[in-house]
Amino acid sequence: MKVLVINCGSSSLKYQVIDSDTEQVLAKGLCERIGIDGRLVYQKAGGEKEITDAAMPTHKEAIGMVLDALQNPKTGVIADLSEIDAVGHRVVHGGEKFSGSALVDDAMIQAVEECSGLAPLHNPANLIGINVCRELMPNVPMVGCFDTAFHQTMPEKAYLYAIPVEYYEKYQIRKYGFHGTSHSFVSKEMASFLGMDLNNCKEIICHLGNGASISAVVNGKCVDTSMGLTPLAGLAMGTRSGDLDPSIVEFLGDKLGVDAKEVTNILNKKSGVFGLSRGLSSDFRDLGEAAEAGNHDAEVALEVFKYRVATTIGAYAAAMNGVDAIAFTAGIGENDAATRAGIISYLGYLGIELCEERNKVRGENVKISTDDSKVAVCVIPTNEELAICRDTVAVISANK
Ligand code: AMP
Repeated sequence: MKVLVINCGSSSLKYQVIDSDTEQVLAKGLCERIGIDGRLVYQKAGGEKEITDAAMPTHKEAIGMVLDALQNPKTGVIADLSEIDAVGHRVVHGGEKFSGSALVDDAMIQAVEECSGLAPLHNPANLIGINVCRELMPNVPMVGCFDTAFHQTMPEKAYLYAIPVEYYEKYQIRKYGFHGTSHSFVSKEMASFLGMDLNNCKEIICHLGNGASISAVVNGKCVDTSMGLTPLAGLAMGTRSGDLDPSIVEFLGDKLGVDAKEVTNILNKKSGVFGLSRGLSSDFRDLGEAAEAGNHDAEVALEVFKYRVATTIGAYAAAMNGVDAIAFTAGIGENDAATRAGIISYLGYLGIELCEERNKVRGENVKISTDDSKVAVCVIPTNEELAICRDTVAVISANK
């Protein structure tokens, strides 16, 4: 099957066409600055990146341009739209309504709309992508894949906040978790890479990118994760604070003379390693270089990040009463050997030993712990688009 994978944001859209039989990417790219001016990036497998500046007042023109590029007689990958067998859409928040990927129909769209209050920036944009694709390809089956779905197996003790329980019942305030497609993909991939039985193992998955989260996975099912009601919770991130004393919101608001909304904005956009490094950078490459050159703030920012990851790993090893394997994935997890080594230096008590030679490898599945290490530690590149493609095919086959 040829599957079009769409990840639709408020002013951008990423896409890939994947042949689900070979799992090869046939073409990929993105639309940027939708509603502002508009730019299409398109790349056929093995071909050059083509960049076209063109007006994209709405997502409809953007998706129209993607479909035209895919059918271009010279550089396209399909003769006409009938060759697209299915579309898989990333959807950020499925609330408690979705514990797995689901076929797009009117009831599903309504349920996603009902979850929009929990992700006001993301779900409406995801829905625009779904609605435009339905309009342009009315006969093509579509599937929604939720960032929250994988975490729906968490037990109450992990997902309930210790606040009056009626706020959970009335307003659905609970831990949901995010990056679920990645956590699910990497947990399966690591089990198969290490030859472990997915149904009989304990894994910790560290998705460390600009947004970062960790999950505890027992027998393939998530039992805890570090993000919460929103993706602001948990680890220190590129610009997000992660966990802090909730009283800080009122305290800082009073000091600055701003409301809770503005403090939350600071916690989302000006905090994390960016805030700790006095606004130097949220990018770990810049911070690593600055720390090497003796910048104390950059060094401290990186150490806070590593310390939080290590203490969360410790918490999850306790939650699962042990751990068999730990995965590092996403931009930092896959590429930043120094940060991985720094995190692992906290984990000696688990009997973990890092192999420095193996830790240098990039871009492929690799075990970076020694063969004597009591817990296997791996780098497992994530592939959310492929995970969405696999889910899309599985859901469509199950609904035939
Ligand atoms: P992601 O959100 O998964 O795309 O990850 C983006 C982050 O990965 C960037 O902000 C960088 O901090 C980090 N990153 C990417 N490549 C490298 C690298 N070679 N070394 C260190 N950090 C990297």
